[in-house]
Amino acid sequence: MPEPSVPEPAVPEPAAAGTSSRPDPDRWPRFHVSQHPAVLHKLAILRDERTEPKKFREIVRELSWLLGYEALADVATRPLRIRTPMEEMEANELGVRIGFVPILRAGLGMVDAMLELMPTAEVWHLGLFRDERTLRPVEYYNKLPDSATVDLSLILDPMLATGGSATAAIEVLKRWGAARIKLVNLIAAPEGVDAVSAAHPDVDMHCAALDRQLNERGYILPGLGDAGDRQFGTAR
Ligand code: URA
Repeated sequence: MPEPSVPEPAVPEPAAAGTSSRPDPDRWPRFHVSQHPAVLHKLAILRDERTEPKKFREIVRELSWLLGYEALADVATRPLRIRTPMEEMEANELGVRIGFVPILRAGLGMVDAMLELMPTAEVWHLGLFRDERTLRPVEYYNKLPDSATVDLSLILDPMLATGGSATAAIEVLKRWGAARIKLVNLIAAPEGVDAVSAAHPDVDMHCAALDRQLNERGYILPGLGDAGDRQFGTAR
């Protein structure tokens, strides 16, 4: 009589080709990639070339919320005495002043979600465009107040590609006197993570995915294309 067949244990699917979900903490100690299933699910919709701008903006917003939640997990709180309908208790309130710095234009889509998370935060817009010939950032707009007014600044930009805009934005904030800086991106390329880690080893980076590489035009592979064009319907 043949032995009854024992079902094989389920083997987890390998990571998608071209993306690495767990970066090496020795190489990039300040680089965090979300492992949350909701993030992975939304990323697939975001990347899909069939996703229309309206849906794309919606997913940018939802992912920003989830990443912001992770990026702000270590901010300090201070005790606050309140009274519930039942009794008095010691609760908590945020103990730091927070500023969001969206990099125009693609970072705009991340602002609303961040403000939902932290309604008292300030928002300062920074305009950097990438010179397509040199791939270097050029600053064209800066709405920072005269002096640093917050304890923690979060730079918002969906794509960390060469790292040129990110390092330029960090330099602007440091010159301005920013105390602590974090970078929030949706997708990062290894080249960008290397550039930021080398130039600013004190800056934490939070993102939803680490992709394979850049192409010769500085676009992330597999990536999602141009994050600004896809949000604002300007892709040709
Ligand atoms: N900026 C984008 O919008 N996409 C990339 O892939 C790289 C930079």
